[in-house]
Amino acid sequence: MKNKGNLFVISGPSGVGKGTICRRLIGNSDNVSVSVSATTRNPRSEDVEGVTYYFKTIDEFKKMIDEGKFLEWAVYNGNYYGTPADAIENKISMGEDIILEIEAQGAMKVMESKPDAVSIFITPPNEEALYQRLKNRGTESDDEIKKRVEAARWELEQQDKYDHIVVNDDLDKAVSAIENIMKNERKND
Ligand code: ADP
Ligand code: 5GP
Repeated sequence: MKNKGNLFVISGPSGVGKGTICRRLIGNSDNVSVSVSATTRNPRSEDVEGVTYYFKTIDEFKKMIDEGKFLEWAVYNGNYYGTPADAIENKISMGEDIILEIEAQGAMKVMESKPDAVSIFITPPNEEALYQRLKNRGTESDDEIKKRVEAARWELEQQDKYDHIVVNDDLDKAVSAIENIMKNERKND
């Protein structure tokens, strides 16, 4: 019988480089995919419905919560974000690895409900780098950037709860450190 895939949780503060790293990880492997979350935040110009997120109204999101559609969900800076449960088990049973790219409250819920999940916290070289990366990305207002950097302080305090911590200073090194973690988990299956 084919081995089951693994569930990886990749978390860390906004702007640390999670999205950039995940795009590299799926580009380098045909057996890994990133789960598409639902959110109530407004789409950015580069967002694509069903590809980067499923965009929902607050009522639609709350209905999904009531119907038990989420593996986890959280409120982050005033918006709802959640991982739809349906596609995940199916893909894992087919031998595919799934990455959840989520913030820390949700990451901790998954660690509780899925003890086999492998959790990886991505940390910036320092707080200033986080601020600069968000500023350079140019997708949020100054006010929103400030809120995200404030949220980062609590998120950074949670890092010891994860199975692995990876510093994203040099992007290539961070990607290869995570690829090694993923390879080792497959060997241990
Ligand atoms: P997140 O998904 O964690 O919010 P992103 O992947 O959107 O973060 O990255 C935030 C910004 O930082 C992007 O503009 C990205 O190109 C840049 N970035 C990512 N990794 C690095 C790195 N190692 N060094 C410098 N800039 C980076
Ligand atoms: P953004 O607005 O930048 O797309 O996402 C904000 C934060 O929400 C990021 O840290 C991102 O990883 C996180 N996030 C995205 N999808 C989910 C999800 O399904 N659940 C949780 N808990 N966080 C998510």
